[in-house]
Formats: sequence, C-alpha cells, structure tokens
Amino acid sequence: MLVLSAPSGAGKHAVIARVREFGEPLVETVSATTRAPRRGETDGVAYHFVDEATFRRLVAEGAFVEWAEVHGHLYGTLKSELDHRIESGRDVVLELDVQGMRALKRARDDVVSVFLMPPSIAELERRLRKRGLNDEADIAVRLRNAEKEIAARHESDYIIVNDDLDQAAREFIEVLRLERAARTRNAVNVNKERK
Ligand code: 5GP
Repeated sequence: MLVLSAPSGAGKHAVIARVREFGEPLVETVSATTRAPRRGETDGVAYHFVDEATFRRLVAEGAFVEWAEVHGHLYGTLKSELDHRIESGRDVVLELDVQGMRALKRARDDVVSVFLMPPSIAELERRLRKRGLNDEADIAVRLRNAEKEIAARHESDYIIVNDDLDQAAREFIEVLRLERAARTRNAVNVNKERK
C-alpha cells in the first residue's frame, strides 16, 4: 500500500498516469469528498461526491479508514474502497494529504509513503493557474497549505521531485520495485524462522 502525498498542483495524477503508461498495473482508491466536482470529474471515478451530512454520517458509522479536512473540505478513504483493492493482491495507491498519510501509517504497518515535491512554490503557483480549475481564493489557500506540507516532507519514506514527469514516474517505479523486493525478502526470512 503506497500513499502518495503532495501539495495541490504538484502533479500526483499525472505521475500515476505515467507510471501506468510505463506498464505498472496500479490500482487506486476512490475517496469520498464534500468538495464540488470540477469540470471533467465524474462521480465515482474522481471521487464519491457527497454532501456534508452524508460525510458526517459515514464518519459516525465508522466507514472511513481515515478522513481529514483539507483546503476547507472533507476528504476520506472508505474502508470498503480499500479492502477489496488490497484483496486483489495488486499494489494500491492512495493520494492523500499529509494528515491522511499520518493516519494510515498509524492504522497499518504495511504503508509506504512517497512525497511528491514541486520544483518550487513559484512553479506550483504557475501550474495551479495554468490548469484553470481553481479560483483565486482557492489557489491562495492551496499555496499556503503547500508550504506546511512541504515542511513536513521528511515524514514520508521517499521524496520525489516532480521536475520532469518521466523522471518522476521512473523514480516512483523504482520505489515500487525496492519495496516489493524488501517485502519478498521479509517473507522469505519469516519462513526461515518458522522452519
Ligand atoms: P483536490 O481537491 O485537489 O482533489 O484534493 C485536495 C487534497 O486532498 C489533495 O492533497 C489530496 O491528496 C487530498 N485527498 C484526496 N482524497 C483524500 C482522502 O481520502 N483523504 C485525505 N486525507 N486526503 C485526501
């Protein structure tokens, strides 16, 4: 299970898409959120878009592995989303903010975390404006939060700078391979101990 965290606009989706193009069959969870869908986002694909009352009900029912308030909206990982993807035996990627990464690491011991860094705050601002999906107030909030998220980057197991998309995707694949190898080694060692 791999958590990818990054400031908004650092290119999480683009990196995951490129990793898939390079042939890694990653599966992703679909989070629930109270934020409104953006142009081009489909319910159940980008997110499960719900109103705040529904989100709070899901929290009360214990439906989330983790949830957090991010940029003024609620976001959460549904247990139902995670469980069946883990059972598929494939590598599962969760795109979470730093609070989500921390919560998941507390909840499970099989979590690898990667922080995706923008080359600079100025470049992040340029990317957020260029994609044209956020209004000015929202961009200001996201840039303020970016500074806090970047300050916490060393809490993640790996840091990848997204300067060049192909290079960032290749580094992400390197992390997958390293971690798969480490898990295979551990499994072998556990078997040895049992004998
Ligand atoms: P956006 O509104 O740009 O889609 O996402 C805003 C932030 O919320 C991103 O940092 C994203 O990683 C984070 N996020 C998305 N889904 C979840 C979730 O289920 N839990 C947490 N903690 N953060 C999430």
